[in-house]
Amino acid sequence: MDKSNFFRNIPKVDIIMENEELIELSTKYSRDLVLQSVRKINDDLREFINKSQSEIEITSKISNIINDIKNDIKKYTSYNMKKVINGTGTILHTNLGRAAISESIADYMKKVVTGYSNLEFNLIDGQRGSRYSHFEHLITKITGAEAAMAVNNNAAAVLLILSSFAQDKEVIVSRGELVEIGGSFRVPDVMVQSGAKLVEVGTTNKTHLYDYEKAINEETTVLLKVHTSNYKIVGFTESVTVSELVGLGKKYNIPVIEDIGSGVLVDLSKYGLDYEPTVQESIKSGADLVCFSGDKLLGGPQAGIIVGKKTYIDKIKKHPLTRALRIDKFTAIALECVFHEYLDEEKAIKNIPTMQMINKSIDEITNNAEKLIEKLKNDLYKVCQLSIEDCESQIGGGSLPIERIKSKCITIKPYTMTTASLERNLRHADTPIIGRVINDKFIIDLRTVFSNEIDIVYNTIKEVFNC
Ligand SMILES: *Cc1c(COP(=O)(O)O)cnc(C)c1O
Repeated sequence: MDKSNFFRNIPKVDIIMENEELIELSTKYSRDLVLQSVRKINDDLREFINKSQSEIEITSKISNIINDIKNDIKKYTSYNMKKVINGTGTILHTNLGRAAISESIADYMKKVVTGYSNLEFNLIDGQRGSRYSHFEHLITKITGAEAAMAVNNNAAAVLLILSSFAQDKEVIVSRGELVEIGGSFRVPDVMVQSGAKLVEVGTTNKTHLYDYEKAINEETTVLLKVHTSNYKIVGFTESVTVSELVGLGKKYNIPVIEDIGSGVLVDLSKYGLDYEPTVQESIKSGADLVCFSGDKLLGGPQAGIIVGKKTYIDKIKKHPLTRALRIDKFTAIALECVFHEYLDEEKAIKNIPTMQMINKSIDEITNNAEKLIEKLKNDLYKVCQLSIEDCESQIGGGSLPIERIKSKCITIKPYTMTTASLERNLRHADTPIIGRVINDKFIIDLRTVFSNEIDIVYNTIKEVFNC
């Protein structure tokens, strides 16, 4: 194929720059930005012509040049990270940002972070203050612990605790509690980064108190318990409780530390869920330090919260890694706000989005589903089949792995496109709707859709169907 004609057909850069839409974009953003995209798409086009063997493809690519340039510019000028609608029914969806922050908390955060704040300034005496002081009194009041602090996430909390107490020393942990937390990260690998030597005791399904006791020697500095948040070993099993470990720790003068995973502060069995150990109970059982995530069941910002005995927390606060792992002002203020809600359990259940979703009644979900489906049926009856069905939501984020909560979803079976394209189009929408495809139908679980998002869902689906 003689390609020289095609190359001649590529418009020159200065001619392309005279395109009206591109002139407009040059004014809106910058001429330089537009010029870079023009050059890049031009180069890409040359390379495409060199490689391609299809005249039709080449001609279409040349005629599409302005669109390709506009899309390239858009990559740099539009927001990449944005709000999405979570129709998956997974309440703590790690890929979708885990816990949502309430609007009232976000409003207060905005006030604090858009100006200066007393992040590390004690307003009472005018001296340097601590960034933990804003929430430490709240956490200790709620959990019963003597002291508290926070770092960037729970993995960092585990790393920091073991670096502070167990560097080059032995830490005893049960084989049944060596957790992989997703993204192929494993808690034991994080622990080893602290320089601690993990001494694994027991077996996958059974660990006894005497297994820990037999492993204790002069090198032992920590007895560690890890809550197996994201999996459950059932059947012929046995594990040692925190209280039992505390008894053993006292006998040998070794601190007991618990990584409790999800930081639940309320007894979820009261709300019809499986029992999850609470932070308060762990402290009451005598654990010396407990750490947990901020953005799992607590429903707060990403953080790793450490609570426990003051002498230990004081030591951690002085460790150099604390500086490397320290939370910023966004996290500090969000934590203060979230813990404010937990001063009153009813307020927490009512005001924290994660708790609201767990607790949302099937009536409310059905109501939202019916409202949405009525409107959609009016506009879309020709292009798809719509229905309301039973489904099951889950907690996610590595919490309560086998728990399923009854819910309602709307299902869409398109006539005018494949279900796979519907899924893709909704995912590519201005406000993307992320759902699931089951039995060739697109499914939106309404438990994880906020009431004020129903209109967005309605409008987006209509747009995708061009209705
Ligand atoms: C989730 C989890 C972690 C990691 O917490 P992040 O806040 O995600 O870093 C550590 N340990 C356990 C037991 C967990 O469940």
